[in-house]
Amino acid sequence: MEADHQPASSDVGGTNLLVFRKIMSEINDSLRPFFSPDGVAVIGASATPGKLGYGVIANLIKSGYQGPIHPINPKAGEILGLPAYPDIDSAPDPVELAVLIIPAPAVPDALQACARRGIRAAAILSGGFAETGPEGEVRQREILTIARQHDIRLIGPNGVGVLNPHSGLNTTFIEQIPEPGDIAFLSQSGALGGALIDWARGQRIGLSYFASLGNAADVTETDLIRALADDPNTRVIAAYIESVHDGPGFMDAARRVTPRTPIVVLKAGGTQDGARAVASHTASIGGSDEAYSAAFKQTGVIRAHSVQELFDTAIALAYQQPPAGSRVAILTNAGGPAALAADALARNGLQAPLPDEASRAALRAALGSAPQLLNPIDLLGAASSPEYETAARILLQSDAYDAVLAILVPNTANDPAGVAEALARAAAATNKPLYACYMGDVSIREGRRRLHQHRIPVYDFPKNAARAIANARRWQIVRESPPRTAAPQNLELYADIVAELAKKSDLGQKYVGEAELYPLLERLDFPMPSWTAAYAKADAVAFARTHAGPFALKVLSPDLVHKSDVGGVALNVSAERVGQTYWDLQAKVRRRARKAGLQGVLVQEMARPGVEIIIGMRRDPTFGPMLMFGGGGVYVEALRDVAFRIAPFDAEEARAMIAETVAGRLLMFGARGRVPGDVDALVRLLQLVAGLALAAPMLREFELNPVIVHPAGQGATVVDARAILG
Ligand code: ADP
Ligand code: MG
Repeated sequence: MEADHQPASSDVGGTNLLVFRKIMSEINDSLRPFFSPDGVAVIGASATPGKLGYGVIANLIKSGYQGPIHPINPKAGEILGLPAYPDIDSAPDPVELAVLIIPAPAVPDALQACARRGIRAAAILSGGFAETGPEGEVRQREILTIARQHDIRLIGPNGVGVLNPHSGLNTTFIEQIPEPGDIAFLSQSGALGGALIDWARGQRIGLSYFASLGNAADVTETDLIRALADDPNTRVIAAYIESVHDGPGFMDAARRVTPRTPIVVLKAGGTQDGARAVASHTASIGGSDEAYSAAFKQTGVIRAHSVQELFDTAIALAYQQPPAGSRVAILTNAGGPAALAADALARNGLQAPLPDEASRAALRAALGSAPQLLNPIDLLGAASSPEYETAARILLQSDAYDAVLAILVPNTANDPAGVAEALARAAAATNKPLYACYMGDVSIREGRRRLHQHRIPVYDFPKNAARAIANARRWQIVRESPPRTAAPQNLELYADIVAELAKKSDLGQKYVGEAELYPLLERLDFPMPSWTAAYAKADAVAFARTHAGPFALKVLSPDLVHKSDVGGVALNVSAERVGQTYWDLQAKVRRRARKAGLQGVLVQEMARPGVEIIIGMRRDPTFGPMLMFGGGGVYVEALRDVAFRIAPFDAEEARAMIAETVAGRLLMFGARGRVPGDVDALVRLLQLVAGLALAAPMLREFELNPVIVHPAGQGATVVDARAILG
């Protein structure tokens, strides 16, 4: 597997690659016993049917595990015909994996015993750890310490264990295991994992591996993703994730894995960030779900939004080559479903173009004049298996298409199982992907079974098929242009500023006002108009005399975060009116916000005209600094025309981020007589903010709102900024 590993990122080259491989193989060696152990001991095995410790032994036997199985039980005796041992020390060699199903307080001692016995892998099924509260947390730390001391890797606690249908390893309570296949499935919820495995069996979806991570005290989703990328049985990694344990580590692993093994993730949403700060727009719009989406996007991970989509996508990727382009031929025996399919394909960014002349002629010659040869290619209700086969062959060979979606609606005149065989024959003759959508239930079960058998992905509804095809297409794009890692920035540049922010933060300061913040930003070459903080009318007037007007005047107060909301901003003020406006602002604010600690007035040159956008940063607890780019400046919350990325990212990624928004596309391409904006300046600004966020861990939120973007070549101007420490 390692031999065909493609360096996924620019920093993986030469010696780094060698180091990386060494680390990989060390990690994977330590996890191997969880995949194919030579000998399993079940600590807490029971002779009483109905007990979990009985079920695990029964399942190990039933699933056909070939190595020795050692039940451990103080009463010894015999369990399901196997000799039981009173303790792990007396169990004979070999034992590579210990499965623990004993009460939590007994786990530390049992682990110590495993260590003495030379066991280096333990799946802890017992609950009663971090999931139960502080006492459990202490216990979880205790077992982790023991594991680290003795080089033991742990899966769990509080999980259901692991399952390898290829080797018959089943340490779970799940009785019926799926067929061996090439989809690995990781789950942070044991219960959901059990339900999905049962469902996969019904759907005849084969699995290469299943692991329930439980509390993931030691082995995390990231470790297993790394290991599974090298598992020869695994073609696709599917995961149900509630939270990623180590954001940067996950991103690093995913970046390296996705170009060779696709990763599809169902992430439970609705995660609470605790009390969400409202001081910045970025924090109010960009929560942890946006951070996950950004992290997945940047690392080539495909995000599924339902259990159905997770597996629909997994089989598309496991069974077929991904489409080389986005043009799909819809082959059908029914008009309505085909129309729905065309809609769904379009909604998912795919196309359904008309057949080219050559294909149309070939179809006409083979099928006669009855079928409609547009797209859909409609064979009509009674379409026979040979008709499906002939048409599928022609379409799969056609240069006009990158994939074929064959839809079948059952009726008395057709033969769903026969069509399945026909489609399989057509698919076998080419590398181009063929997908099927069999609508209905009772009369198509056999047809579906055969499609699965022949590795033709089959879907219930056109919408599901379209989503899965689009996701498969996404993976092909990841393969063609693997996720990049940004070259490390020189954070030295920010050192002085970081030191000053750190000082403020250490003194408990939360909010950094304009007058304190702007000098720091200017030192970093943020493009800003000339300004002064005036604490007397004379200061304001003096500034106006020596600078080109007109001016923007704004109240300076730590209590007024949104200055224009209280009438605290005056724009286009001529030099002559600066003095009067100074008093007007003071008076107005004193009236409206009596309690605000008014400090003075910011006098700023007006920026040249341009388009207002917002750039923000919020530090995500999992992934670190997340940047936001958005259209509409102050209207960003209403418009939600925003894109997110986790820092660091390179210029190309910054450009992709800008292009994800309507405002960004308008800036790039211009519209209705509006000239394109200076996108390069925005890219530089995004990277400057990313660098600052990476260098200054005490910077919790940061926002430039608005940035005024001038025509291409003329730069951008930051006219308002705020920083929140914490
Ligand atoms: P706040 O966001 O606290 O209400 P801003 O400083 O962002 O205050 O000012 C409000 C709006 O005024 C900005 O969104 C922008 O449209 C305009 N504005 C502020 N300063 C300038 C400036 N120097 N040049 C041009 N327009 C400005
Ligand atoms: Mg503002």
